[in-house]
Amino acid sequence: MVPNARRQVLKWAAGASAVALSPQLMQFAKAADNFLKGPAVKDIPAKQISQHVWMIYSPDGFPTPENQGMMANVTFVVSQKGVILLDTGASVQIGEMAIRMIKRVTHKPVIAIFNSHYHGDHFLGNQAFIEAYGKDIPIYAHPYSITQIKGIEGNAWRNLMERWTNQATAGTKVIPPTHITKQGDIFNYGDVRIKIHHHGIAHTPGDICMQLIEDKITYVGDIVASPISMMVRMLVLLKPIKTCKVLRAIRYGYPVMVNRANNSLKSMVSFWPGSMKPV
Ligand SMILES: [Zn+2]
Repeated sequence: MVPNARRQVLKWAAGASAVALSPQLMQFAKAADNFLKGPAVKDIPAKQISQHVWMIYSPDGFPTPENQGMMANVTFVVSQKGVILLDTGASVQIGEMAIRMIKRVTHKPVIAIFNSHYHGDHFLGNQAFIEAYGKDIPIYAHPYSITQIKGIEGNAWRNLMERWTNQATAGTKVIPPTHITKQGDIFNYGDVRIKIHHHGIAHTPGDICMQLIEDKITYVGDIVASPISMMVRMLVLLKPIKTCKVLRAIRYGYPVMVNRANNSLKSMVSFWPGSMKPV
């Protein structure tokens, strides 16, 4: 109903523009568009994890009308060259909130985005950053994730998120990643280097983990999202990563897991569950 009304307004506006689009009509079309945008998400100040890494913690792990889709942590890196996002949240409103929080920490612009995988709570905030910092910001993801987001999964997630939040995320557009990245790529941002890890199918077939080499932290998206996925795949995937801290995207009570990776699968299995602690 509401989207139809919007389409009618746009169709009408488009038709009218063939003749002459009056300022009043343009204002009306803009007002209709604003009306269809969900409300702002409340501020959640970012917490500093390490020298360069900050995280905006999600209080919940699932989308509801009350949390407006705030169901995954938004992580950002402040480097010499600018700010880099590791996942952007589940809506344009969450992306806009993240920008407000980033501006409390630094005046540097956002210069790059990494989407860990194709699930909507990790890429639907892309729009806010493109609108604020320009469409030339590179958005990196695994090729599988890019294909899914450009295909039916992108819109399916946008629609699901609207339904789960009772339209609180309305106005969010699918902005797919623009650049392919793969296992072993290293991005140099001056004082921060980000190494990409993709060691096979995990939470999805196209997950990437972002290792902050200098900070000894690895952002793993949803790979460590549940006890089930912790069992085998995660251990295999994280084994090659020499790191001290592992940041996860989904909260489930414990946003950060401390891990001292070693070469023994057995000792990692026994070490990991007891190593979870909130930060
Ligand atoms: Zn996911």
